[in-house]
Amino acid sequence: MEAPGPVARVARLVVPVACPGCGLLDVRWCESCEAPWWEEPLRCETGAPRLDRLDPPLPVWSVAELDGPVHGLIAAWKDAGRRDLGALLGPALARAARAAAPALGEALGGAVGASSPVAVVPCPARAAHTRRRGADLPLLLARAAAAGLAAGGVPASAVAALVPARGASRGAGDRGRWRAGPARLRPGTRSAAGPRPAVLVDDVVTTGATLARAAGALEGSPMVPVGALVLASAPAPGEVLRVRPASASGALG
Ligand SMILES: [Zn+2]
Repeated sequence: MEAPGPVARVARLVVPVACPGCGLLDVRWCESCEAPWWEEPLRCETGAPRLDRLDPPLPVWSVAELDGPVHGLIAAWKDAGRRDLGALLGPALARAARAAAPALGEALGGAVGASSPVAVVPCPARAAHTRRRGADLPLLLARAAAAGLAAGGVPASAVAALVPARGASRGAGDRGRWRAGPARLRPGTRSAAGPRPAVLVDDVVTTGATLARAAGALEGSPMVPVGALVLASAPAPGEVLRVRPASASGALG
């Protein structure tokens, strides 16, 4: 690795680089905290009670289970200026999308507009957050997911069809931590041509309230929700989504 320049050295004296998952110093992220991002995606809709209101039910794929290190990486990427973590989270979501593509393609079989490319619709961030971050992170996730679906044989493109609901209080997101809130259809979307299936994208699903609201906001648009992809999901109380092997045997359950 190239030696850090004088500016980087001074910056590290002020703010040392550390893995946001476990605090290990002098690495952007560590192997242990990276590992869960490359496991097979999880189906997680049963752990999200607020998705019950959707009919038909929405299959949701999650890259990782929401534990401390996973939460740490996402939070650092979103709100601590660790934009470099996008180089891990984006490709991890793309890989999960690619893995989910066959099942999604099967589900599309009888869906409305199944012959059209899938619209990958991000749950929008608050405008103030997007300004502060200097990037539309949900849209970056949607583009990664669309690339992954396309690589898996399901033509898809990111479509920023939702905008934050104007004047809405955003404090009460999933568990009050993830400030995703009400969304509404972007003006002009309703008149777009032809029905097409839509896959929603968000960073974290806990209760599923945000995804349910986003799916509701698409009602009346040409986009029909057929699934969702998220970076991380919280297991339902008492449920274990993925049992991590206690030893490094490498055996897959
Ligand atoms: Zn770590």
